[in-house]
Amino acid sequence: MTIYGGGGDSLLTFKGTIASQGISIAPIIKYLVESIEDLEVSDCRFNTDEEARLDDALEKYIVLLSETKKFAPETEREMLEAYELIAQSLVEETKELARNEKICAELALKKVYLKYRESFKSSGSSLIALREADLRSVAASLANYLRGREPKSTLSVHGKIVVAEDVTPTDVIKFAKDGVKGVVTMKGGVTSHAAIIARGNDIPYIIIPDLRLENINNGDIAILDALDGSLVVNPGEKEVENYRVKVARFEELKSILRRSAFAKASTLDNQVIDVLCNIRDIEEARAASTGGCDGIGLFRVEFLYMTRDKPPGEETLYTAFTKVAEFFEGKTVVIRAPDLGADKPLPYIPLKEENPFLGLRGIRLLLEYSKEIFTPFLKAFLRAQRSHGNLRLLLPMVTTVREVLETGELLTRVAEDSFERMATSNIRIGVMVETPAAALMVDKLADTGLIKFVSYGTNDLTQYTLAVDRGNANVSYLYDELDPALLRLLEVSVSKALEKRIEVEVCGEMASKVPAIPVLLGLGVKGLSVNPAQVGLVKYVISKLNASNLGKDLVSKVLNASDVEESKHIIKEYLLSIGLKELNPWL
Ligand code: PEP
Ligand code: MG
Repeated sequence: MTIYGGGGDSLLTFKGTIASQGISIAPIIKYLVESIEDLEVSDCRFNTDEEARLDDALEKYIVLLSETKKFAPETEREMLEAYELIAQSLVEETKELARNEKICAELALKKVYLKYRESFKSSGSSLIALREADLRSVAASLANYLRGREPKSTLSVHGKIVVAEDVTPTDVIKFAKDGVKGVVTMKGGVTSHAAIIARGNDIPYIIIPDLRLENINNGDIAILDALDGSLVVNPGEKEVENYRVKVARFEELKSILRRSAFAKASTLDNQVIDVLCNIRDIEEARAASTGGCDGIGLFRVEFLYMTRDKPPGEETLYTAFTKVAEFFEGKTVVIRAPDLGADKPLPYIPLKEENPFLGLRGIRLLLEYSKEIFTPFLKAFLRAQRSHGNLRLLLPMVTTVREVLETGELLTRVAEDSFERMATSNIRIGVMVETPAAALMVDKLADTGLIKFVSYGTNDLTQYTLAVDRGNANVSYLYDELDPALLRLLEVSVSKALEKRIEVEVCGEMASKVPAIPVLLGLGVKGLSVNPAQVGLVKYVISKLNASNLGKDLVSKVLNASDVEESKHIIKEYLLSIGLKELNPWL
């Protein structure tokens, strides 16, 4: 929401949702979406050099990809290799069309792209089925080269605040390497992978759905305050002075938080809480292993599946699991079975679904495609567990007891069939509680005897409880884990889990939200799995709380709140009443 749009010639203040905390002042760079659909082509005759122009565009694009690859993490490198293949196929087909229809390269490229876009959903071809966004991005980059322009991915964002309609996870990786000062987008959600990467790299990021891009110019100085969620464009002296004071305080606190990361997290009354980390590839695991994480609470393996044109084989998975297990030798490593479908589509399983978030995703998809996907995954898991012993298995998007029982049966069959033959009884299996159904049925899930722990995936649990798409900026104002509806559901569910004596962790973004931490501890949660960059903050907050007071002094009150504003107010008052004023920026 725009809260102020005057006062000086061009002072503008926008208010948005914080996706990654921090504060910075820097010139703006507009990172505009290159739209292949909008490509206007005039004077489009076939010339003898059309094929050479296409070859030239392809060559430049491949150079760009290999430059980006040098600093990209492993999983992104695979995605970039896939981009190269898409580009080659697009160019080949474009040449043929340009020749046959006697049209220029730009128009032929647009036509080829549009053809694939239309058949995207219905085709079984791996090229076509690659995510539409990827296809569009490759086609747009090629079109830019054809027109003699540099694509946006070559823009230098060093020392700048990127302002864009939307950004991809790959964009954010590149921004981080380039030393960006902050990111502002109109689309996206706080639990999107782009936001998660921003948090992992300490990049301030806010989402402002009604940002007026046309009123902002490249080079405008802006204050990005991702502690209170505002963007001030062309600030005056007063704003800059306030900013400097705030930054100094924030920096001071940050160094204390960095030091906290390496201590064991324990409350004032000596309750030890595990602060585990969420990772999605080996490089993140390597970095996390020196960042104070007590283990891995969530290895999001999906990227191993999404960046290929067929599922990864047992060997690839085994290598990934063993590497992560080695980085965390002697500590817990929770490997989530791939949560595919919905927001994590697969190029090789094109699903035609009206409503994919309520469709074949997570454990449902794994059981449906058990031969192709689940069995090789379980084989790799069992082998890695046999050699390292510190792995746990987490099942995503569970809604029924039957899914757990079927998984148990499959695991036993896989173990028996495997030439290594091993007992599965001591495999530690957990259910990821991401649906209200799983939350309410936790006791029955535990009664299967197969479940040793539950991990609350609050990103999805919030979306399904509040009926708010976690990635939809139009309704992001309704998405809040501190909504009393979610807290009530958690209370019912966690107490059932504790009664059944199964371990309780939280691995959604909620686990690292300062106001949520005292509530979760008050509910009896014993493990928080967070982005590695948040370990210090989370451990610091834990160290300031008295766990035995939280139920009575805080939880009972927030559960009685009428809405999220009231629950947040109660938490803020509580934390300030116990003297934690320094946490104010997060409240
Ligand atoms: C969650 O839903 O809370 C979660 C951790 O899983 P993801 O964000 O990968 O969907
Ligand atoms: Mg989830």
